Amino acid sequence: MLNTARIELHLHLDGSLNIRWAYEKSLKRGVIPADSSFKDYYNLLFANNAQPHNVSITKFDLTCNILQTAEDLTEATYDLVRRLANQGIWYAEIRFASQQHCKEGLSQKEALYAVIHGARKGMEVFPDIRIGIINCLMHKGDSAKVNWEENLETIRVTKEMLGNGAVGLDLAGFENNCDYKEYAPLFELAKQEGIPFTLHAGEMGIGEHVLDAIAMGASRIGHGVNCLQSEEYLNKVLETQIPLEVCVTSNVKRDMNYGNHAILTLLEKGARVTLNSDNMMFARTDLTNEHAQMRMLGVSNETLLHCTRNAIEAAFCDEPTKVWLRSRLEQEVLAEEERKTHEAQPIIF
Ligand SMILES: [Zn+2]
Repeated sequence: MLNTARIELHLHLDGSLNIRWAYEKSLKRGVIPADSSFKDYYNLLFANNAQPHNVSITKFDLTCNILQTAEDLTEATYDLVRRLANQGIWYAEIRFASQQHCKEGLSQKEALYAVIHGARKGMEVFPDIRIGIINCLMHKGDSAKVNWEENLETIRVTKEMLGNGAVGLDLAGFENNCDYKEYAPLFELAKQEGIPFTLHAGEMGIGEHVLDAIAMGASRIGHGVNCLQSEEYLNKVLETQIPLEVCVTSNVKRDMNYGNHAILTLLEKGARVTLNSDNMMFARTDLTNEHAQMRMLGVSNETLLHCTRNAIEAAFCDEPTKVWLRSRLEQEVLAEEERKTHEAQPIIF
């Protein structure tokens, strides 16, 4: 069967660490008590899954606290690229928030550079995978004013590295129901600077955020599943055909189940869906599993292939990379068709 799990557009570095690495690093850096066993650490991370959303965000604090030096950021990114390459991923956009990694003296620029450095090292060792880095603006609390300066700096440093490892911006953090329009001036600046962006919208917060994100000029929507809260939101998603970065297992780990997940309706209505993992460690998933889960729900391979094509077109990479990805995919589609034809022919001795 054709492997459709090739393009990953929504993947958080701090939520996708190798758990054994994260445990050892947490001990070394004193993030957890020195007598903590691996089991203690595991329970600490995953007990939070049962907590309300605003509490579960603290597991990101746990992992961010071990990613405060250039060396650790580079090592973690390299290791993630290695695991993605081994899974057979061809292109991934890894996201992180440079402003979350400055607690021990790094500047945002240094943090971004360290992650890009890890991605480059990964691409050198595994030349069949290409990586783009998305830098996240953070949404903290009820007002965009809380970290306005930090978010401005995120835009500045991303602009500096755009096309040189960085590919775009995001808005991440605990999505409550606050007014997203407050972020409009920041994304206006991003547009002026020519930086493409995606926004977490309609994941944990209101579906109206999806409309706000579209109005602000987002090229894609992180999650967006709550657009199903109203016909108006859904119609906008369908009219604009804005790509949605859907992360099914990540949502299922919180409060949905596979069978009633919005993705089935979104696919049926004709939304431009891409499939993604969100957090490989926290959601205990990867892209191969996401595609496998969809197959188990009865989604056809043809539809999954369509989602993969959507992801290539929606990627923030340059055109030569897209040409390479399209041709690689079409070669595999042809090879699969040939294989099926041979299988269908009777063997004559
Ligand atoms: Zn996310």
